Amino acid sequence: MKIVFSKRYYNSEYAGDPAASPGRLEGIMKILSQKEDYQIISPNPATEEDIIRTHSSRHFQYIKNDKLLFELSALAAGGAILAAEEGYNTNPAFAVIRPPGHHASSDSCWGFCYFNNISISLLKLFSEGKIKSAFVLDFDLHTGG
Ligand SMILES: [Zn+2]
Repeated sequence: MKIVFSKRYYNSEYAGDPAASPGRLEGIMKILSQKEDYQIISPNPATEEDIIRTHSSRHFQYIKNDKLLFELSALAAGGAILAAEEGYNTNPAFAVIRPPGHHASSDSCWGFCYFNNISISLLKLFSEGKIKSAFVLDFDLHTGG
């Protein structure tokens, strides 16, 4: 299995949300890196073209105004793209990325999510004619909000 990860994801200085607390990814990566049949692969940041398939130009600029937030959010979206491409190429993949994305809407963000990573990744595959639809199973470890 391919594990999509960047050490940049450890940086959570841009967020005060408890979900961004340091140490949450370290335990996951400690376990996954011990698996001999898991290969850790590093993503590139998503491009503006990739991101604005999902988000408005206003939202893109809003995030871009914060240099660190933009760097890490684009890198997280790039991680989702890499995992989606691996999956498309029939390679099982798991992405350990942060910030998360499933609470981000086209023109807004909340819940420690800035770009909707899964949407960005799937719309990229869709735009390339690789997929016509996708099944997304999303779960969250809290209720309400
Ligand atoms: Zn949530």
